Amino acid sequence: MRQHLFAANWKMYKTPEESTSFIQTFKDLLPPATKAEAVLFPSTTSLPASVQAVSGTSIAIGAQTMHWLDAGAYTGETSPTMLLAVGCTHVLIGHSERRQYFNETDTTVNLKLKSALAHSLIPIVCVGEHLAEREAGRTSNVLELQVSIALEGIDPSTASPIVFAYEPVWAIGTGRTATPEIAEDAHKLIRRFIADTLGSDLAHTTRILYGGSVKPDNAGSLCCLEDVDGALVGGASLDPNSFADIVRNATC
Ligand code: PEP
Repeated sequence: MRQHLFAANWKMYKTPEESTSFIQTFKDLLPPATKAEAVLFPSTTSLPASVQAVSGTSIAIGAQTMHWLDAGAYTGETSPTMLLAVGCTHVLIGHSERRQYFNETDTTVNLKLKSALAHSLIPIVCVGEHLAEREAGRTSNVLELQVSIALEGIDPSTASPIVFAYEPVWAIGTGRTATPEIAEDAHKLIRRFIADTLGSDLAHTTRILYGGSVKPDNAGSLCCLEDVDGALVGGASLDPNSFADIVRNATC
């Protein structure tokens, strides 16, 4: 049984004060015995305040990216040991905005994934095709390449914490969502590619989230599918009521 996970990617929004205020409202909106996990991904400067604000709740805090090394001359970067030191438990890896604007590649995704596992950070690895790739019938090839390179050299005995997020690039921040059929087909493919690399047992237990313009009114139809195990939410996670509605409507 895979527990649903709902991840809020706040991108470059919210100061520490705004993050704390969100959490104070959101924690009272979550049903106390919810079966789903909620993880918030604030910007780097809001991580300590957010960790403090979720104390005593089941809500977890993660970083939107990290370097794979513990320390070094890498101006502007944050290391896994630094994330652990402020109380992060999760990290997003390979978000399409990181790939598009900051030269994240499948190879750096692989380095970051190995580092996250070595540091006991729960990684959410983002994959997904561009519109032109989908229209050219290349979705399966793109996903296979992204998943197989991400998992290259990963020891299956260490891989159980890995979470994937299927985020078709054409659906991120556009208001255009995948249909439930498109999402389910892509998730099945990703599960098959995980099986090719890590084996079918791990493929069966690995959670795969859907991301791309998830809102309270479409979350149920997108997340209550056989192979969809929750959502990675951008825009609609910035408001505590809207994110709580997504968790409520899509916990199935
Ligand atoms: C995201 O940032 O991962 C995302 C899915 O954004 P949005 O929900 O705004 O499409």
